[in-house]
Amino acid sequence: MTKKYRIKTSCPQCGCSGVSHLSEEEIKKRYGDVPNIELECHECMMIMDADVQEDTNADE
Ligand SMILES: [Zn+2]
Repeated sequence: MTKKYRIKTSCPQCGCSGVSHLSEEEIKKRYGDVPNIELECHECMMIMDADVQEDTNADE
């Protein structure tokens, strides 16, 4: 089974927030093997830290 992660972001500048679900593989492909993932807000382009948590809810 592949581990899944929930990536939560909230932008301190414009207040938007979002959640995305990625597998461990997808995370490594996109962000490399780093402990901290930084994302760019799609509204205001600010760089923000993402909160990554293992997604234990396998209800898909
Ligand atoms: Zn923003």
